[in-house]
Amino acid sequence: MGRLFAGTPWDRPPTCDRCGKLESECACPPPVVEPVRLAPETQTARLKLEKRPKGKVVTAVGGLDPEGNDLEALAAKLKARCGTGGTVKDGAIELQGDHLAAAEAALKAIGYKVRRG
Ligand SMILES: [Zn+2]
Repeated sequence: MGRLFAGTPWDRPPTCDRCGKLESECACPPPVVEPVRLAPETQTARLKLEKRPKGKVVTAVGGLDPEGNDLEALAAKLKARCGTGGTVKDGAIELQGDHLAAAEAALKAIGYKVRRG
């Protein structure tokens, strides 16, 4: 695990910040990096329908910082709320089918501002 941060400042000095032992002797668990999440109230989700090949339509939820939001968890909530499948792709959530109204209601219930289009 000592090579995890190779090439970054964490790699030098070769002693552990926490136990003070040489990296090669350190048995500390790798540090847990908690991502900094943004408050939903400070963000505007962009909601729109997108056409996919073969006439399929997806409800796309974009405009949300992938670092500032747990998009996987949000996608799970939206999928449950809309009763559909979906995925997170390129920093946006895609729900299968036209679920604009349900997705907007769900996002607003969480606290996000929502803009259509
Ligand atoms: Zn250590």
